[in-house]
Amino acid sequence: MMKLYFLGTGAGAPTARRWASSIAISVSSSYYLLDCGEGCQLRMSSLGISPLKIAAIFITHAHGDHVLGLAPLVESMSHHGRRDPLYLIAPQGVDRLVEETIRITGGGRDFDLIVKSPSDGYDDRNISVKGYRVCHSTDSWGYRVSIKKKKLDICYTGDTMACGEVIEACRGVDILIHEATFTQENEAEARSYMHSTAREAARVALEVGARYLYLTHISSRIKDPEDLVKEAREVFKNTRVASDMMVTYIL
Ligand SMILES: [Zn+2]
Ligand SMILES: [Zn+2]
Repeated sequence: MMKLYFLGTGAGAPTARRWASSIAISVSSSYYLLDCGEGCQLRMSSLGISPLKIAAIFITHAHGDHVLGLAPLVESMSHHGRRDPLYLIAPQGVDRLVEETIRITGGGRDFDLIVKSPSDGYDDRNISVKGYRVCHSTDSWGYRVSIKKKKLDICYTGDTMACGEVIEACRGVDILIHEATFTQENEAEARSYMHSTAREAARVALEVGARYLYLTHISSRIKDPEDLVKEAREVFKNTRVASDMMVTYIL
């Protein structure tokens, strides 16, 4: 069995209801993280995910709401006595952010941090992952994760406008996790910050032939998540909006 944990599902600054972006996937006894926003290790602790069991961390881009939980998590791995290497797949500069933070705050690291670029991809006995470019305001990537034993593909977009690059990379996936920062009411704003609306995410899900769509990276301005669901379901029926601490079991 594998599980999908939505640790943080907010956009920008964390709120009481939605913390910054982070998702964990468990396969066999290993965990994989997609983004690591502020507080991700607290969410992991609440859900019983050990920092020692994280095999690899995939970062979509260097905006603070996706990376500011990373250095504290790496620091905690050392406190817990980690010796196994950790893979960090991230755009340029993210590894420096981790190393400098640990250096300045006087921490240490007793295990290897193996840094790879998203275009290198990643492969182990459980999963194989391909990074793909998305359409956002900085060097930004999405990840397509293939779960080997399940023959199941998950495509995570990170922050992006709905664009052809995402459609190409996510074609035929089982689960599409697409950002939906806003509803159509804030369409102009979504465009100017290079984000998506729920309806745009649903159009991508339909176009790629996904089985399920999860919406995440929700603005604090969305008071009722049902507004996102309603808007998306007009286009793509199998839509759910993610919430913090939501765990999905995939049999
Ligand atoms: Zn973001
Ligand atoms: Zn961003």
